[in-house]
This record gives sequence, C-alpha cells and structure tokens, in this order.
Amino acid sequence: VQFNVSQLLKDSVGSSRCYTIDQAVERLPENGTSQISGALTLVRTDRGVWAKGILTTNAESSCSRCLCNFLHSVQFSLNEICLPTTDVHTGIPIPVVSGDDFSCSIDNKHTLDLHEAVRQYIIINTPMKPLCQSDCLGICQKCGSNLNNVLCVCPDKAKDPKWTVLLEAFAGHN
Ligand SMILES: [Zn+2]
Ligand SMILES: [Zn+2]
Repeated sequence: VQFNVSQLLKDSVGSSRCYTIDQAVERLPENGTSQISGALTLVRTDRGVWAKGILTTNAESSCSRCLCNFLHSVQFSLNEICLPTTDVHTGIPIPVVSGDDFSCSIDNKHTLDLHEAVRQYIIINTPMKPLCQSDCLGICQKCGSNLNNVLCVCPDKAKDPKWTVLLEAFAGHN
C-alpha cells in the first residue's frame, strides 16, 4: 500500500487524490491477510498528507468456540496524518519535531507507505473472540467433537447445547 505523493506535495493545500485499492500484499503472519481492497483519499494538508478511507482485508482466525480456522474479512476506516521527511521542492531533510502527532512518514523519495499503519489497523480490528458463525455450537466438553459437524452421544453433555451458547453469550457481555 504505497503511493508516490511527490506531485500531491507540490499541489496546494486541500488538493486530493482518490485511489481504488485492490491488491495482494505480503501475507501477514498474525492473521493471514493477503488482500486489501477499498477506497482511499489522500489530501494535501499544510504540513503533509492526510490519508483516509475504508479498507477491507481478508483474514483467517481460529473460532473461539470450536477452535476451527475460518476465513473472514476485516473492515476498518483508516485515518492517518503522514508527514514528509524531505522537502519536495528543495530536497532538504525536514527534522522530525518531537511530540508531533503523526503516524507515518513519507520517505525521501516521497513514497507514502501505509503498510505498517494498515497492519496495525488489521490487528486492532480483528475480533478478540472471533466466531466462525454467530451460532457456532462449539466443541463437546466430554469428547471434543465439533458439534457443528457431529452430534455426539455423550451422556450429560449439553442435553441442550444451546445452554452453552447462551452462557457464553452472557459471559461475553461482561
Ligand atoms: Zn466455531
Ligand atoms: Zn461429546
């Protein structure tokens, strides 16, 4: 997720560029994301570039109830202030002001690289307790069967497996 913003940096404040993104990225080890799509707008600000948009990525998680791996998507709205490290007109390095509130920088070739920012968004926006399906039945406490696939005959397992689901749902609300 890289953009050359040298032209945008030469434009007047308020100028913008819109991009449609649909690209493969290096697979993230955290959750297997390998594809990013969405729309992104880059706006020239007085000091740098404001990147904003809504992106969707694929991801793979393991269900917190039945432990199976499943594919899902992660959507987030990106909102980043990016500051240049080199003056686009003179090529002179711009010192980083400590305490500056910005999340990514634009390198000396005027490349805006959102890879790390996107990675952070994906991690933050991946559910902590993902479910393969909202009514996942989980696994049998006795025999370990995945109750979505088999109906085991363990005696006192959930005579009504829905109880487990309900109790978990309540626990999840705390
Ligand atoms: Zn599940
Ligand atoms: Zn069982």
